Amino acid sequence: MAKLTFLGTSGSVLTKERMCAGILFEDKLLDVGFGVLTNLLRSGRKLGSINDLYISHTHSDHIGDFTGLVWAMAMEGRTKPLRVISSPNTAAALRRILDLQSTPSAWVKFDITFVKPEEVNVKSATTIHDPENLAYRFQTQHGDLVYIGDTAKSEKTSEFAKGCDLLIHDSTFLDGQESLAAVTQHSTARDAANTAKLAQAKRLVLTHFSPGNEGAERRYLAQASAAFDGRIVVAKDHQILTI
Ligand SMILES: [Zn+2]
Ligand SMILES: [Zn+2]
Repeated sequence: MAKLTFLGTSGSVLTKERMCAGILFEDKLLDVGFGVLTNLLRSGRKLGSINDLYISHTHSDHIGDFTGLVWAMAMEGRTKPLRVISSPNTAAALRRILDLQSTPSAWVKFDITFVKPEEVNVKSATTIHDPENLAYRFQTQHGDLVYIGDTAKSEKTSEFAKGCDLLIHDSTFLDGQESLAAVTQHSTARDAANTAKLAQAKRLVLTHFSPGNEGAERRYLAQASAAFDGRIVVAKDHQILTI
């Protein structure tokens, strides 16, 4: 079984209960938003066990701790390369961020290699979000995991997620906040559930909750359940799931 640990489940900014976007999936970290490094250290997981970093897009709630992660790895004396998988535009931005934050190259004694998902045989697709957001699909022996990142509601994402075992979907907003979702290019719980239904996903994980909706977990679950019959998880920080 492959294990997933949710290191951050808030959208836009962190809260007392939730850090920004980040998921540990075997030796991979999927996004590294603000606070993810803190929860990673709290999880007891060794930084040295992380080989790959997948970045969906350059909004700070997905990359806020990127430089911090690189520095923490350098502090531990890392020598093996860190592979960063993203779109070319995101890779260029991440290189620039390391430079702008005055990362001392002599001190970072490991290579950071930037590659595109097709170079590591991982499927990806752009979603409806600006800046460009890549969704990723990982094949495991026990089924496929799809991580959407951020997206406005879209039928295209259901095609990409077709038949997956576990769909992790942007679920920033609730019923009644559709105009906010459209303006910010995010989804409601019901949008995520509609995508899961169209994709015939086995399980749906809701995440990336608006800090303004703190404490509304039951409403997220109820509204998603109205549209999707499969199992639904309202993700919490430090929650562990298996696939
Ligand atoms: Zn986001
Ligand atoms: Zn975003």
